[in-house]
Amino acid sequence: MQRAFTRWIFGALGFVVLCGAIAFFTLPLKGQIPILAYHFVVPREQVGPTSLDVSQESFEHQMRFLQTFRFRPISLRELYEIKRGAKQPKGREIVITFDDGNRSYVEFALPILSRYGFPSANFLIWDNITQELHGSMDLEMVRRIAHDPLVTFGSHTLSHPVLSKVDPEQARQEIVQSRARFEQLLDKKIDFFAYPEGAFDDAAIKFVQEAGYLLAFTTSWKHLAGKNRETLYTLTRTKVTSSDNLLSFWMRVSGISSYVKRLRYAYGFWS
Ligand SMILES: [Zn+2]
Repeated sequence: MQRAFTRWIFGALGFVVLCGAIAFFTLPLKGQIPILAYHFVVPREQVGPTSLDVSQESFEHQMRFLQTFRFRPISLRELYEIKRGAKQPKGREIVITFDDGNRSYVEFALPILSRYGFPSANFLIWDNITQELHGSMDLEMVRRIAHDPLVTFGSHTLSHPVLSKVDPEQARQEIVQSRARFEQLLDKKIDFFAYPEGAFDDAAIKFVQEAGYLLAFTTSWKHLAGKNRETLYTLTRTKVTSSDNLLSFWMRVSGISSYVKRLRYAYGFWS
């Protein structure tokens, strides 16, 4: 009896390890492209109480993990080509994005990303850049890296309002005007947009299309409000936080955590 029980336990453990190993080397499935959302990467001693601060050390480990296990970080342009069917995915693609245009991106994240040769995108807020608010990059920094081939800038509006809560005319200004102003400032096309706080409504999507953005990003599946489908203007991302370790990071880059969120919000499981 005792031996049968032990054999059962080892069998079950072996099965779990085998499933884990298969998942580890096969996920994300080809064509499923997890999109990571970071905010701030800072030295360990500067990590504050916000879950949005990721230490430089953790970020370095995460990038090394991607390189070691042959993930392929791609630019937003390449993501767009794949999404519209003009390019075939090769497998293990991943996208690295940052919100809010904080100067820590230039000081602490970019040196690491450049070392690995990984492309990334940062969604800028017009008022923060031009008025140097909230530790944002200043105009000089933005101009200096705007033509770095590994950097894509997108718009994150003029003043970072929750678009679903402001009146439609303001929402239009925030979405349409920010694109025009950034394009003029940087002498470069701004083709990508991220909704502040991930919040959008049908009017915001309409303005995003009217402005001519190619892709727009929300945060998690929660914002799709029960719609079990992303569109080019409502792409979900997975937020990397200060409490992530390499196991939870793997859950994000394998697509597992998005899948769980999707089940939770689209079908009402665990809510
Ligand atoms: Zn933001």
